Amino acid sequence: MNLLQFFSKNRYMFLVALSFFFLLEIVIISTVKYLENIDKSHFLENKAKELNVQMQMGKHYLNEMAEVLYDTMLNDPKISEIMYQATQTTDLQKEALLRAELYKTLQEKYKYMKKLGVRQLHFHVPGAVSFLRFHRVEKFGDSLAAVRESLMYVNKYKEPIECFEEGRIFNGFRHVYPLFYNKEFVGSVEISYSFKAFLDHMLEINPNASYIFLMNNEVIDTKVFDDEKSNYMKSDFDSYSIDKNTLSNSMGISLDEIFTINKKIKKHILKNLENQEDFTVDTFIGQSQNKSIIVSFIGIKNFEEKKVAYMIGYSYSMTMDIFNKRATQMALILTFVNFVLTLLLIILFRKEKLKAQRASEEAIRDPLTGVLNRRGFNNILDYKISISRRYDSDMSVMFFDIDHFKDVNDNYGHDVGDTILQELSNVIKACIRESDIFARWGGEEFIIVLPQTSMKDAVVLAEKLQKEIKKYNFTKVETLTCSFGVTQLQDDESSDELLKRVDELLYLAKTTGRDRVISDTERSTNLKYSL
Ligand code: GH3
Ligand code: MG
Ligand code: MG
Repeated sequence: MNLLQFFSKNRYMFLVALSFFFLLEIVIISTVKYLENIDKSHFLENKAKELNVQMQMGKHYLNEMAEVLYDTMLNDPKISEIMYQATQTTDLQKEALLRAELYKTLQEKYKYMKKLGVRQLHFHVPGAVSFLRFHRVEKFGDSLAAVRESLMYVNKYKEPIECFEEGRIFNGFRHVYPLFYNKEFVGSVEISYSFKAFLDHMLEINPNASYIFLMNNEVIDTKVFDDEKSNYMKSDFDSYSIDKNTLSNSMGISLDEIFTINKKIKKHILKNLENQEDFTVDTFIGQSQNKSIIVSFIGIKNFEEKKVAYMIGYSYSMTMDIFNKRATQMALILTFVNFVLTLLLIILFRKEKLKAQRASEEAIRDPLTGVLNRRGFNNILDYKISISRRYDSDMSVMFFDIDHFKDVNDNYGHDVGDTILQELSNVIKACIRESDIFARWGGEEFIIVLPQTSMKDAVVLAEKLQKEIKKYNFTKVETLTCSFGVTQLQDDESSDELLKRVDELLYLAKTTGRDRVISDTERSTNLKYSL
């Protein structure tokens, strides 16, 4: 039997085994995926928290630095006096002189501040009107009341404040201090760090990362000077733009790759951005590298505690790679276990099937000779009769019995009798066709159904068997003879009638001297054979 036949013969078994395998595989893969996702989401959640802590640390550091700069360089009576005089005059020329004097006083110190990452040193007279921008000295006199809540706060409460705020020119972390001259409020000064300075500090803490700063478009539209809007570029995240100065990259991937990542994760994050959450997502970089990258979005609150901006942090994640590898390994191991289980199932199935087959075989086989027993024979006989009628073909039956077998048992013992029964059935098997049905009817009586065989041919075969048996050298007894009854199936005859007739013929053979073949022909042509 080739493999294909084996498969088609056991179709049901393979169908069950395959269904078992695939069902278990679905359970395995979804469980592994589920557990992997739980691990990953915990890890990513913690990553967002971790980065938030790092950001708070960074902000704290900038605050401390601003405090020191204010105490050591700006909290100076000379500066307060200049500002006081500025509040006292409406003469533009005098005001210009005061501005120049203030600039000169702090010029060197401003350079030093810039080295420390300070982006703006900005003085304002009361009412939040710009007096001197060190980073843009030619721009002054404009009111910031409408755009700078932090300044309005200091004007109102006369106390320092620090917050993140978008301005006309720059966004950044701002520290605004009130200025007093003889306890009189004479304006304010602001030390601001750009986001770039902040990110540089973040990169010192975590050098294998890249950061980008995202600003809400609405804030840009309402606050930034039109000619300064080019500081921002469109991002892949609908209502946010990228601050061009923050395209920092120290993890060795190109900006193009960063933009590709942004495009890839866009779908998954827009909802989170809308909900103003801090979150981390994971993705892969490169077609071939397949390195896990995690991308964290940490919201930055403005004066009103609204998240108007986001810091995006990109970094490689070995942990994520380990999660992926572990999940693949788990799935492979469990798939192997599944495969082994399925194989065991097939083996078990097969064993049971063979057992059942053997049991049903045993029920129809004679254990001594291995040929069909009476029950097996009866199972087939009716089927063979119906086939013969269906194709209108002859069918004959031969019934035979060992002569004086009792003597064999009596003289040589039952075991020899058994051996002779086996030898006889082998002699018969060697002479008949595969399509013939040979069975032990009981005791030392045998029966053969001969499909597509006329009585004439059946008689020829019976005589041949008679000769072969006589020729054969049986254990101990050496010679043995049998008596045969042979007949052909008649039209409309039942199996019982057929068996009865052939039994009568055998009986006739016995009663007329044994060691002979009696068929219907002998019975009808020779009256001495009649019953
Ligand atoms: P006949 O020529 O009239 O058939 O004489 P016979 O002795 O063969 O017939 P009888 O019916 O008197 O005896 C049949 C004997 O066959 C009796 C029994 O001991 C023997 N026999 C039946 N089945 C078995 C068997 O399975 N093994 C052995 N050893 N003997 C068997
Ligand atoms: Mg006998
Ligand atoms: Mg008998």
